[in-house]
Order: sequence, then C-alpha cells, then structure tokens
Amino acid sequence: MKPRPIPLVEPFWQWQRRSLPVDTPPLPPGRHRVDVAVVGGGLAGLSTAYHLLRRQPGLRLVVLEAEGLAAGASGRTTGMLSPGVGQSLPALVRRLGEQTARALYQQTLAAVRDVQALVTAEGIDCDLQRSGQVIFARSRPQQRRLLALAQQLSALDLAAEVEILDEAALQRRLRLPRLSRGEASDGPAALRFPTAGIVDPLRLVLGLAQRVAALGGQIHAPSRVLSIAGLDEKAARASEPVCLQLADGHVRADRVVVATAGYAPKLGLFSGRLLPVQLQAVVSEPLSDATLADLGWAERDGFLDARRVFGYFRQTADRRIVFGGARPRYAWKGGDGGPAALSAAAAQVAADFAQLFPDELGIRLVGGWGGTIGYVLDALPAIGCLPHAPRIFHAVGWCGHGVALATAAGAWLAAAMSGDALPALPWFRSHLPKVPTELGRYLGFAATTRLMAASDAWS
Ligand SMILES: Cc1cc2nc3c(=O)[nH]c(=O)nc-3n(C[C@H](O)[C@H](O)[C@H](O)COP(=O)(O)OP(=O)(O)OC[C@H]3O[C@@H](n4cnc5c(N)ncnc54)[C@H](O)[C@@H]3O)c2cc1C
Repeated sequence: MKPRPIPLVEPFWQWQRRSLPVDTPPLPPGRHRVDVAVVGGGLAGLSTAYHLLRRQPGLRLVVLEAEGLAAGASGRTTGMLSPGVGQSLPALVRRLGEQTARALYQQTLAAVRDVQALVTAEGIDCDLQRSGQVIFARSRPQQRRLLALAQQLSALDLAAEVEILDEAALQRRLRLPRLSRGEASDGPAALRFPTAGIVDPLRLVLGLAQRVAALGGQIHAPSRVLSIAGLDEKAARASEPVCLQLADGHVRADRVVVATAGYAPKLGLFSGRLLPVQLQAVVSEPLSDATLADLGWAERDGFLDARRVFGYFRQTADRRIVFGGARPRYAWKGGDGGPAALSAAAAQVAADFAQLFPDELGIRLVGGWGGTIGYVLDALPAIGCLPHAPRIFHAVGWCGHGVALATAAGAWLAAAMSGDALPALPWFRSHLPKVPTELGRYLGFAATTRLMAASDAWS
C-alpha cells in the first residue's frame, strides 16, 4: 500500500500551550559567574537542575537552552513512561550477565516509579496516568519473543513486574486486528507492565521548569551555548571554572551539566560515539465515543508491538492517538535529513497506524513531526563526569527511553555531584563505543535498521 502523506506540524503537545508558566529571558549579554550551568532545557537538564537545587539551596544555577523549553525530544516524544533500555532484556543478559542486566532493569523500573513519585510530590499537572503498558505480538515468532522475555523476567525474579495476557485478555484492553497471529499460539498474545504510564511530556517539562524557578534557578531561553572550554582533553583545566561561550557573552561555572541529548556532538561531546538519530510520530483527531467503544480502549494503557522496529502509541487527554514508529533514521553528518525525509518517515508511521487502526474505523491522522534523540551503539545511556574534566558532567544517550530515564537521571547525577556514591551500573560512565567514520555511521545505521525491518516482515 502506498503510504499516505501526512502534514508536518508542531508536536501535538505544543498546540494547547498558551503561555509559559515561567519566565525564561535570554541570558543578558556580558560575563556571568555561577556555581552550576546546566546546558539543555529538556527533561534531563531541568530534572538535574531541580534535584541540585533541592540538595543545595542557594546554589547559583542557570539553565541555558538554545531554543525554547522542550524544543528537543522532550517536547516531541509520545510520552510513554516505561521501564527498559534500548536493548531487549534477553539480549542484555547475554551481553552483561544476569546480575548486571537485572540490576539495570530494576533501576529502569525504579526510574518509572521515581518519576511518578516526583510528579505526585510536586503536584505537577502533566496528565500522568499509571495506565500500564502492553507489548503485543502480531505473529507467532513475535509471540516466541514475548515468551522469551516473560521467561527471562521470571528467571531474574522479576515475574511480579509483568502480566501475561492471552488473546481474550488483550482484546479486553484494546480490540486490535488479529493480523497474522492466527489461531495457533507459540506464546502469550501480549505482556503488560503495570508500573508503566503515560504523561503529557511538555507539561512535565514546564512543571519541572516552574519548580526550578521556584527554588531560585534561572532559566534562559533562547540562549545557545556555542562552546564549552575543557571538553577537549587537550584544553581541559581541572582547577579552573569552566567557561561557556555564548554569542554575546560567556558564563563561568564551577560545574557544568551537559544535558543536550542528540545535540551533544555538535557541542563537541561524544562526537562519533553518540549518534543523533531521528524518530517520528503522528497524531489523530480526537476519537469519538463510538470509536472508543469499538476499540474497547477504556484503560488508556500505552501499547507497543513486539517487532524489532516497532510502533508505539497512547491516548492523549483529549482522546487522540499519538503514534510513533517506522525506522529510526541517521541522516548524513547527524542532521535531520530535511522535510522530504521526515515526510516519507511520517507516511511510514501512518502506514503502520493503518495496519492497527484500519480505514473502516474512520480515524483521521491530522499531522506528524520528528525529533532527535541520542543513540549509543551499545544501547545504554551515559551519565557521569569526564575523567579529564572533573567539573563537566553529562546525562545523555537514552536510546529512546528518556521519558523515564532522563527524568530520573537528574536525581542520580545530582547525587553524584553532591559526593554520593552511585551503584556500579554500566551506564554511569564517560566512555562510549565509537563508530569510526561518518560513512560507517551512515551506512551501518541504515543497513542495520533495514535488516531489522526486513526480519520483522519475514516473521
Ligand atoms: C518521536 C519521538 C518519540 C519518543 N517517544 C518516547 C517514548 O514514548 N518514551 C520514551 O521514554 N522516550 C521517547 N522518546 C525519547 C525521549 O523523548 C528522549 O529520550 C528524552 O526526551 C530526552 O530528554 P533530554 O532532556 O535528554 O533531551 P532533549 O529533550 O532533546 O533536550 C536537550 C535540549 O538541549 C538543547 N540544546 C541543544 N544544544 C544546545 C546548546 N548548544 N545550548 C543550549 N541548549 C542546547 C535542545 O534545544 C534541547 O531542548 C521519543 C523521542 C521522539 C523524538
């Protein structure tokens, strides 16, 4: 089927925003001196700022955001708050061993719970729903994959974190076309993770920004940092404050937090190691009462399918479907690939959408958008401090799981910056695997995602 063209629009979350709940004037020209400068006004940067200010009241802290709050992935996400990292749990166990994989997975569960607790404690109005998340199979090989995941969770003593759904139980949560699952079964129809949830990500970002401002932090946007002295090993000077250069001034900070996700390489951090990868999403018109009743989607669970290149979707407060998916893209030199590439990708997402919500249901898609995430070859984030520049900290590389991880990591990084010991987990690190050449990155990423999509089509 020829993919339908989808108009490119502002991310849905921005549509209803009227005014910012917090003052964010651009940084005035000139020289500034602060205790902490946080670079990036997304979930990671604002959460780190919030937790630092909670720990150290009176800290002179600025958040410097290049465009506007939530201009990056945090304002473009589908907003599914879910456990897990970029690689499947069975694959993590094979790579890292049972003990480490279990510890990592548990920390991702803790991340989901921590974000929910933070939202509740601070009374952040972000439409948080502890709705759970369902991963469903569309074919027998996918059922086998779900079975392996359920068995792995059980082997790691994490069976309590998952519910196993048969076809009837899945259809009670959402009436999906049976696709090629057929009647025979090689495993569960779906797994449900009750801890997971959904949020309005923009309102989460703005809520965090309000708390940062209330604690005395200064937020400046647009205020793009052009360079950070000392990122480069040769220029690092551990004993001096770090200088951040802006277009018409500079900031000297005792400590710097770089929370710029997929934009970090442009600042010279993890170049060739953190890949700026493009994801895309589409949004439908609000569902009518009749359509919702047809779908039987009463509980607002988030859903994703069990393919390698998967689709994921959730309901908004006004009953639209926000649906993400299609192949992640690495464009030449880490760009965004331009509007034509995004249009084609959004049309692919629409084609995936049509498989699950066929035309007979009459659900119209009204727009699509893209966003940049930071991807690391081993599918794990990087949270820590540069060994050659102990005043520069980073929290990046969520590999598509940043709603929970980037937000929770703010507390972990603030703890580390306050001298607390962190658990020995492989994502507290400053060394990331490197992809040597631009051609290697470009061709390697395209070939891998194509292969994954093709293997999904065969199974
Ligand atoms: C379409 C899409 C769907 C997604 N769906 C999900 C999902 O359902 N669940 C999930 O967990 N994750 C999802 N993600 C990923 C998730 O959104 C991100 O991992 C998360 O938002 C990252 O937050 P962050 O704060 O690290 O980065 P960002 O939100 O990207 O923030 C980085 C900020 O840094 C700013 N910046 C960059 N350069 C500079 C500079 N030089 N100076 C100052 N500021 C700078 C940017 O403008 C940006 O605002 C999705 C992402 C996309 C794009």
